[in-house]
Amino acid sequence: MEELRIGVVGAGEIGQAHIRRITDKIQSARVVAVADINEDNAKKAAAIAGARIEKDAESLVNSPDVDAVMVCSWGGSHAEHTLLAIKAGKPVFCEKPIATTVEDALKVVNAEIAHGKKLVQVGFMRRYDLGYRQLKGIVESKKLGEPLIIHSAHRNVSSGPGTNTAMVVSDTAIHEIDVLSWMVDEEFATAQVILPRKTRHTTDILNDPQMIILTTKSGIVMDIEVFVNCRYGYDIQCEICFEDGIARMDEPSFPTIRFEAERSVELNTHWKDRFVDAFDVEIQSWVDNTLNGIVDGPTAWDGYVAGVTADALVKAQTTGAIEKIVFEKKPIFYK
Ligand code: NAP
Repeated sequence: MEELRIGVVGAGEIGQAHIRRITDKIQSARVVAVADINEDNAKKAAAIAGARIEKDAESLVNSPDVDAVMVCSWGGSHAEHTLLAIKAGKPVFCEKPIATTVEDALKVVNAEIAHGKKLVQVGFMRRYDLGYRQLKGIVESKKLGEPLIIHSAHRNVSSGPGTNTAMVVSDTAIHEIDVLSWMVDEEFATAQVILPRKTRHTTDILNDPQMIILTTKSGIVMDIEVFVNCRYGYDIQCEICFEDGIARMDEPSFPTIRFEAERSVELNTHWKDRFVDAFDVEIQSWVDNTLNGIVDGPTAWDGYVAGVTADALVKAQTTGAIEKIVFEKKPIFYK
C-alpha cells in the first residue's frame, strides 16, 4: 500500500484541522470519506479534501476504500467509533479521550486484545512536541540525576460555554496527565486537587483556576496549574527539578520587538498554533507506521490510564482528600 486512504468520523474543529493537515502537508495519505451527524460540518470537511460524505460512522468504517479511520467526534462517542474500527480490523487514530468512562476505555482495550493485534493510537500529541521530547531525553540520560518534582501549567485564554470543574481535568489537564507520566515512564499513585479563589472571569459551574497535585509510584510530585480563563494567552509550562539541576521546556520562539520604549515577545493564543508542529509529526508518524503495519504511538492502554487518573482527580475535587489511583494490571499485550 503506497497511500493510506483515511475515513474521518467527526468533522468539527479538530476533524477539519486534521483533514486540512492531511490534505496540505501529510505525505502518502488522503482523506476519502467523512461522516458527521452535523451536516454543515460534514460538508465543510468533505470540501477540504474533495472527499465523499458517508451516511454514518458504521458505513464509513466498513467502506472498502477506507484503509484506516480517524475518530474526531464528540468524546462521548469515541469508544463506540473506535470499537467499530476494531471490529472491522482497521487501524484507528482516536483523538483524546479514548472514552469518557473507564468502563468504555476498558471495552476498547479488551476488544483490541481480543483482536490480537494493536490497531489503536490515541491523540496525545504532546508526546510529539519537541520541547517535551527534549525533556524526556534529559530524564532518560540521567545527566541531572533522578527527577524529583515537576511544575507545570496549562493556561487558556478563555473556556468554552458549558465548561465545568470536572471537564478541566478530563478534557484539559488530561494532556499533562499523559505527557508527564510518559516523560518519567511511571504511573501515578495519588491525586489531589486544591481549588483556590476563583477568577472573576469564570462561571458558577467552573472552579478556575485549579491546582492539581499528582504523585508517582516512586514519589515524584507533579503540580499542574490549570487556568482556563487566564485571559493573556495560551501558555504551556513545564519545569523538572532533578537531583543535580533543573530543566525547563523552551518557550515557543517569537522575535523580540523593541518598540515605543518597550521590549515585547508575542505569545500563542490557541492550542492549534502552539502544537501545530506536534500535530504534524503525530499524524505523519501515524500514517507512516500504519502503512508499515505498525502501531507505535500512545495506546488504548495509555488512554485507559489517563482516564483512571482523571477520575481520581475529579473525585478529589469534591472530597478535598488525597485519593489513591488504582489501575488494573497492565496486560502483557501492552508491555
Ligand atoms: P467539535 O468541534 O464539537 O466537533 C465534533 C464533531 O463531531 C461535531 O461536528 C459533532 O456534531 C460531531 N459528532 C458528535 N457526535 C457524533 C457522532 N455520534 N457521529 C458523528 N459525528 C459526531 O469538537 P472538537 O473541538 O473538534 O473536538 C473533538 C474531539 O477532539 C474531542 O474529544 C476533543 O477532546 C478532541 N480534541 C483534541 C485536541 C488535542 O489537543 N489533541 C484538541 C481539540 C479537540 P455536533 O456539532 O452536531 O455536535
